[in-house]
Amino acid sequence: MKLLNYIRGTMPRPGLALNDVVGLDLLAAQPSLPDNLHVLLPDLAPVRAIHQEFAPRASEIAARWEAGEAPTLPFFDLRHARLLTPVILPSKIIAVGLNYRDHAEEQHKKLPERPLLFSKAPSCLQAPGMPIELTAELTKVDAEAELAVVIGKPGRGITPGQAADHIAGYTCMNDVSDRDAQYTDKQFFRGKSLDTGGPCGPWLVTPDELPPLAKGLAITCHWNDTLMQSSNTDQLIFPVDELISYISRNMTLLPGDIITTGTPGGVGVFRDPPVFLKPGDTVTVTIEGIGSLVNPVKLRES
Ligand code: ZN
Repeated sequence: MKLLNYIRGTMPRPGLALNDVVGLDLLAAQPSLPDNLHVLLPDLAPVRAIHQEFAPRASEIAARWEAGEAPTLPFFDLRHARLLTPVILPSKIIAVGLNYRDHAEEQHKKLPERPLLFSKAPSCLQAPGMPIELTAELTKVDAEAELAVVIGKPGRGITPGQAADHIAGYTCMNDVSDRDAQYTDKQFFRGKSLDTGGPCGPWLVTPDELPPLAKGLAITCHWNDTLMQSSNTDQLIFPVDELISYISRNMTLLPGDIITTGTPGGVGVFRDPPVFLKPGDTVTVTIEGIGSLVNPVKLRES
């Protein structure tokens, strides 16, 4: 299943992407459901039942729309929907530095012996399609394509063997980074928490649609038409189960928490000469089996 949040009127609503065209509004399909996807994450069985009921009709509905019929609830046209991030306000976003073999080599760094963790402020999240905003002072902003895992079931002291049980799904993340702040400050928090610096989406793909622990997925980052990063989640030094176990030794993981697993080689700052995002660019993060997260880059207006 592909779970999402979208705006209908002025309110966020949980939904499903049934295919590339047809979205299903979960509340319209089943009014007794909670109106917050976050609340549904620990037990997706009711959502799965709705999916089984409606998914077989998706291609027929797409064909009817193609023939001119207007979408009606519980269905909506995904191509014109304004999507939000699959998690709207997680308790935490935990990011991992130096977790791809090729990215560590690019920085001429030894492979880490344990995960290097930092956090991004949840307020940095930005919806699919919405802009990464720069200001005149922000001249060294970079993009990082990442596989993000979203926690479903709460837990602490989770063993690697139990980790899969705690995963609600996977999505794409762009760990936008202000390299000025990242390298000037003694820690990453400010540079990694820019407003709009956490594009995430377009939806949450449940683990049953992907290989175990999302291994073996191609991951790319394009700036406009230029391929900047190209790797595979097989390159992860610490895979998803080890990360969940390591983090949950120290802190309780809660439903909706996002762990963004690190970025492959090819980021702008390590190019010769370095390159950074500028207004007018478009960044596309694509992960095999999940989809593409596309965000334009703009100058903030005020
Ligand atoms: Zn990163």
